Amino acid sequence: MNTILEVQELHVHFSASGNVTRAVDGVDISITQSETLAVIGESGSGKSALGLALLGLLPANCTVAGIVRYRGTDLLTLSESKLETIRGGKLAWVPQNPAGAMNPSMTVGAQIGEPVYLHVEKNRSVVRKKVLELLQFIRITPPEERIDSYPYSFSGGMLQRSLVAMGIAGLPEVLIADEPTKGIDIMNRQSVSALLRALREKGITLLVITHDLSFARNLADRIAVMYSGRIVEVREKKSFFNGPLHPYARGMLLSLPENGLHPIAGRTRESDKCDGGCRFRFRCTYAMERCRAEPPLITLHDGSAVRCWLYD
Ligand code: SF4
Ligand code: MG
Repeated sequence: MNTILEVQELHVHFSASGNVTRAVDGVDISITQSETLAVIGESGSGKSALGLALLGLLPANCTVAGIVRYRGTDLLTLSESKLETIRGGKLAWVPQNPAGAMNPSMTVGAQIGEPVYLHVEKNRSVVRKKVLELLQFIRITPPEERIDSYPYSFSGGMLQRSLVAMGIAGLPEVLIADEPTKGIDIMNRQSVSALLRALREKGITLLVITHDLSFARNLADRIAVMYSGRIVEVREKKSFFNGPLHPYARGMLLSLPENGLHPIAGRTRESDKCDGGCRFRFRCTYAMERCRAEPPLITLHDGSAVRCWLYD
């Protein structure tokens, strides 16, 4: 298997007003070429911080430690100027919140054209042609009439697809998308899902961060579940949805409307990260004496991994 991105012992800590939040707290994960990996988990589990850290996009009040290896190069050791040549070109990011992520004073065409100009083509008329092709690809038609529109004239779904177009405009090998179906209606969710599936078919490696389980089920090859800054389960998609292993992941599935909407009792607390025990134990119906010590990520015979003593 050809590993394209490998994360080892990644930590992202935010500090604000004297408090430190361990958003990502020792994550190991690798992605193979042309694979689609969905990172799922509730809000606050560290998913977005993980995605932002991979691309060096975190704000200044964050400390990042660990290894993020892209084709053998540790991105965390690169200067900002070196990183800029990779970001947008080799690895690209699709931010969440399409309305806020686009520049309201620039046309959509100019914003999609920016990464084409930076990473692919310097001739402005060729750039425009490529933007027209991208608009066609994301089904914003007729492209000639839409290319010079401003973001305010687009619906939420069109803006989301435009962000995906910006992400792929620099011809990246890996696209990391943060909550691409958040805040858009069902029809638009389906079109974003179809668009990402089309990218998958083109062989682009996708890392999709989402709390939308049906979207993950539709799109991914593998699922990684994050809880409280840690990966707690990594599994091939089909086996995961047939029966997740980790009690938290089981709870997530039981909280879906089709499974009767049974919410997981309790909530995550920053303090649960600090006493060395399993971080889910205050919410877990299987908690036992042994769970006062945190389990490692245990690899099973089929290659799945789970952080729970029930599988030791
Ligand atoms: Fe529950 Fe213990 Fe497994 Fe944690 S290690 S998920 S507390 S059974
Ligand atoms: Mg998030």
